[in-house]
Amino acid sequence: MSGSESNVAELGILASDPAYNAVLAARIDDTETLARVWIKPNGTPAPFEPGQYVTIGVKVGEKWVQRPYSIASSARDLASGYELYLRLVRGGAFTPLAFALPVGHAMRVLPPKGKFILQPDDERVHLFISSGTGIAPFVSMARTLLADGRPRRAIYLNGVSYVADIGYAELLNGWSASGEYPATYIPTISRPSDPANAGWTGRTGRVERIIRSALGDLSVDPLGAVAYLCGNPDMIVAAEQELRAYGLPDEAIHKELYWPAGKQPTGAVGAPKVAETAE
Ligand SMILES: Cc1cc2nc3c(=O)[nH]c(=O)nc-3n(C[C@H](O)[C@H](O)[C@H](O)COP(=O)(O)OP(=O)(O)OC[C@H]3O[C@@H](n4cnc5c(N)ncnc54)[C@H](O)[C@@H]3O)c2cc1C
Repeated sequence: MSGSESNVAELGILASDPAYNAVLAARIDDTETLARVWIKPNGTPAPFEPGQYVTIGVKVGEKWVQRPYSIASSARDLASGYELYLRLVRGGAFTPLAFALPVGHAMRVLPPKGKFILQPDDERVHLFISSGTGIAPFVSMARTLLADGRPRRAIYLNGVSYVADIGYAELLNGWSASGEYPATYIPTISRPSDPANAGWTGRTGRVERIIRSALGDLSVDPLGAVAYLCGNPDMIVAAEQELRAYGLPDEAIHKELYWPAGKQPTGAVGAPKVAETAE
């Protein structure tokens, strides 16, 4: 799906607004529902810590429709703007608008925020566990550490439904192949019997279900590891239990929930079509 001015007008997205302070500078569609986008603020982008998020939004009539997104780019590379990794949530309030925007469209970005950041000087093995687009902050963390010349041993576990949804595979597998960054990338597919996943020979099942076996296979010492969990809240609750069972102490488990457990898209049937967001 690619954005166009007629889509934008049909959806009622304002083309300009005094509070718009950024532009959709570039976009790569990895699948119909997954896109990497670059948001370029007018002027110098505010710096951020890897793991933080920005809130982006557009105005529809009198209302702002906006959502937070983890930054995937390196904190040392602000020149291209903020790289974000978005999933289109059908029936959602904001993502159908975001996916309809053509490159070059103006929008608003709020300054980076968030406490889901790396601990300084932590030399433990980093376990980056995510579902879907929850891999984004971990890409930023590794890119930033690489730019700083201080890579930390990292194991990425990422759960997706379809092979086509495995995000940032080229980057992460490239790092392992070249040895540029000491990362091991283990994606897992939750719907192995779906014809779309035919031929997949990697891990299967939800990401929380593979944690103990993957860490065991890699001989990870639970007392020498720190875990970061990001994405679907149900995955995070289950993954935390698995990590505890593997022997990680509570202080070594950090979490970023993308939405409250049990919540449905606000634009879904029976809900208002466009969510309002307080200023
Ligand atoms: C700190 C933070 C960082 C975030 N970073 C990202 C990110 O990097 N990439 C990203 O795609 N989303 C991210 N999200 C989620 C994002 O803010 C929106 O909730 C999401 O894009 C859906 O917005 P919507 O208005 O279209 O759906 P809404 O109408 O708000 O409906 C929300 C519902 O959509 C579903 N949903 C939300 N996010 C996802 C998702 N990523 N994948 C599948 N289903 C989802 C859930 O059922 C949720 O209850 C983040 C959320 C938080 C709190």
